[in-house]
Amino acid sequence: MPRSIKDLDLKGKRAFIRVDFNVPIKDGAIGDDTRIRASLPSIHYALEQGATVVLASHLGRPKGKRNPEYSLKPVAARLAELLGRPVDFAEDCIREQAVRAVEQAAKGSRIVLLENLRFHPEEEANDSAFAKQLAGLADVYVNDAFGSAHRAHASTEGIVHHVKEAAAGLLMAAELEHLGRVLENPERPFVAILGGAKVSDKLEVIENLIPRVDALLIGGAMSYTFFKARGLPVGKSLVEEDLIGAARDIEQRAKERNLRLELPVDHVVAPKIDAGAAFETLPVADAAIGDRMGLDIGPGTVALYKSIIGSAKTITWNGPMGVFEIEPFSHGTIDIAKAVAGVKGTTIIGGGDSIAAVAKAGVTDRITHISTGGGASLEFLGGRKLPGVVALG
Ligand code: AMP
Repeated sequence: MPRSIKDLDLKGKRAFIRVDFNVPIKDGAIGDDTRIRASLPSIHYALEQGATVVLASHLGRPKGKRNPEYSLKPVAARLAELLGRPVDFAEDCIREQAVRAVEQAAKGSRIVLLENLRFHPEEEANDSAFAKQLAGLADVYVNDAFGSAHRAHASTEGIVHHVKEAAAGLLMAAELEHLGRVLENPERPFVAILGGAKVSDKLEVIENLIPRVDALLIGGAMSYTFFKARGLPVGKSLVEEDLIGAARDIEQRAKERNLRLELPVDHVVAPKIDAGAAFETLPVADAAIGDRMGLDIGPGTVALYKSIIGSAKTITWNGPMGVFEIEPFSHGTIDIAKAVAGVKGTTIIGGGDSIAAVAKAGVTDRITHISTGGGASLEFLGGRKLPGVVALG
């Protein structure tokens, strides 16, 4: 475990806190402020200890260019509301504007949010000179952005080499504690549930999970690459052609390890992703799928997965079982959310869609830990060292 913000002397210091304020913003309005709320404990703590808080985050993918659509300015306003005190905003995260804003904040509000780090290509490139400039705004560095810890960027990795003291924020520490327990000593049976659209995103994770889990349940569009590998009819379902070989290898390795790797046995098929489309449930081997798409797991799969989930003592879940945003194809995901909530053991959910699904099913408060980092939590549970965590020492 890295040092915690609680181990630092913050009085009169500039505490540079890397947060994950990558919230959905449309036309200047914030959709869901969960990520802002998640770092409030660290921010409150630093303010109480007498620090000047310098907050930095990325927002979306502006690809290294200044773009008002991705400005963090609305986030500063929301943060001020949540804290009940003014929050300064710096129009840039480096140079004059940043330096001046931090100086001002130190004399006044004691809290400033810097503009989107990704307006500079050097952030994602982990450019050392850029990291040094960020470090120039800090007496101490705190990383509370667990959701970004799997990326070695200037604000998550490079900066640490230029500051005297670095530590994990309270959110980061809580994530590492919950996930670390599951990684090191999971109560068994340990079941991982993976869904969503892209196998490519999750391939390395699946490979890493194989030696750790007792069962791996696969759902969502990801299943179709495995079906194609098995020679089953997939119609127009999403398949990642170049990963068919990899899917075959995964099945082979699971077999060698005696791991239970389950794929859907039935699915809901429709001609297109549309709430009004006619749909029906078919066994996955049924050629009647024709040129339709598989868009949700069927009731047979739900029953099978529920029986495995029901006997688990540790569950991790990331990725929906179908196109859960559209009612006719949401049932599989909602049923799995309810089953996971019923587990008597440790349940960990990561990834925006799975979190939205448990919220939709009304069972959020029955989940042990909702991870703020989808990709980061998956990589961590897959045993990968996260650069943003390694850097903290
Ligand atoms: P990911 O970002 O890889 O976790 O994928 C999430 C997305 O996968 C969601 O928007 C779902 O609607 C989508 N999805 C899940 N199952 C399917 C499916 N069978 N066909 C098409 N899209 C799907």
